[in-house]
Amino acid sequence: MADCLFCKIIAGKIPCKKVHESENFISFHDIQPQANVHVLVIPKKHYEHLLDASKGMEVNILGQYLQEIAKVAEILGLTKSGFRTVFNTNDHGCQTVYHVHAHVIGGEQLMGNMG
Ligand code: 5GP
Ligand code: ZN
Repeated sequence: MADCLFCKIIAGKIPCKKVHESENFISFHDIQPQANVHVLVIPKKHYEHLLDASKGMEVNILGQYLQEIAKVAEILGLTKSGFRTVFNTNDHGCQTVYHVHAHVIGGEQLMGNMG
């Protein structure tokens, strides 16, 4: 999508601090980290948000998405200590970039209330 920030990152038009890239996904550090480790995992194909999971997002991409998140957590060294995975959706979810992305947050003890 021409005017999508994350599509521009995928196309290499905007730089990012890349963590991992596979056939269908790319992961990079969030520009405003909310914890010691804060990485975004996104599909290369443009989907607006998680609601697309019930509107045509290919089932194998959905399965691969969880595998990719686990892989990225391994690369980041978060598996033993643990981490949080968040998909913000629409206004009440405080979604600001409308290209679906999983936040992978950790590297320190997080608050228990998801705040
Ligand atoms: P949302 O609020 O939509 O769930 O998350 C969007 C995330 O994208 C935010 O955490 C924000 O800091 C991050 N972000 C916004 N612009 C950029 C950018 O240009 N580069 C990177 N790496 N992250 C960005
Ligand atoms: Zn996009």
